[in-house]
Amino acid sequence: MSDDAVTSFRCTYCGQRNALTEGRPIEAAKCGRCRLPASSVPHRKFAELDPNDYIHPLDSQALGALRSIPGVDTVLKKLIELTGESYMRVMANANTVKVGPTQYADLDAKLDIVCCTLGVPKPDLYVTVSDPIFGTGVGFNAMTTGVEKPFIIGFSTLLERLDDREILAVLAHEVGHIHAQHMLYTTAARLLAVITEFLLAANPITATLGTIVNMTIRVALINWYQKAELSCDRAALLVVQDKDVMVSAMLKLAGGLMAGRSVNQEAFIEQARDFDRQYEERMVDKFWTIIAASGRTHPFPVWRVAEILKWVDAGDYERVMTRADG
Ligand SMILES: [Zn+2]
Ligand SMILES: [Zn+2]
Repeated sequence: MSDDAVTSFRCTYCGQRNALTEGRPIEAAKCGRCRLPASSVPHRKFAELDPNDYIHPLDSQALGALRSIPGVDTVLKKLIELTGESYMRVMANANTVKVGPTQYADLDAKLDIVCCTLGVPKPDLYVTVSDPIFGTGVGFNAMTTGVEKPFIIGFSTLLERLDDREILAVLAHEVGHIHAQHMLYTTAARLLAVITEFLLAANPITATLGTIVNMTIRVALINWYQKAELSCDRAALLVVQDKDVMVSAMLKLAGGLMAGRSVNQEAFIEQARDFDRQYEERMVDKFWTIIAASGRTHPFPVWRVAEILKWVDAGDYERVMTRADG
């Protein structure tokens, strides 16, 4: 059958059959449900994916150090209990738009695809302008919170600048945190970061919360937090199955997207490889010591790009993909 005889296509991501507008090439078509582009390459899903297949060694190393602190899980659970996971959920519900089949339906469909690909129960997803829980500034990211019943918050400022496959990557990164069983630690790390911010403003409630977690735990937690991102970027790549999508999403995270200007993806890849070449191990160690001490939790997109490219170059991504269903 020749191309011009094709009148419909099945979305490789969500399975929906879509009509093809007459005279339009299939390459330009998008699925009416998930809005992802038509593709002749099948989207692969994992019947069973072991987090150990993709966890970054820096993540497991730092998490090992954190977990070796006596009583750490109890302390962090206590911190979350005091803040109240249900409180965080209520705040998210009250301040955001909840995604569902009739609300931002394409985001809902994308989340279905992500959860089905990684084999994770579907969490709730909220879209917001500012942090709905603590009311802090406008975010240019996404986050996942909650241990009992995790939920994802996506900032509209980020989502509206990403294309559909990049949004899939962001959602996959977030679901990756759930799949990799990061939730106790990421939720605690984020709480502590906010508490520290409030402490500076001398808020008495957060001051009490702040004293529960000692400095040893804080440093180990912050030291791990950034490295956990590397594992979730890998989980995201396992879902989007195209490294260029990871690079372009990270490029937008690093430099935003300026209206009327095009960006050079190749130059950004070169910048990432340069970053990796310049900073030999000793330097990076020092870098992490400073990060841990400063309590900084902001991600480093250029470093993350360098790491994801290394994973692909080493053939490890391909190796994990062989375990996916065709
Ligand atoms: Zn679709
Ligand atoms: Zn993350």
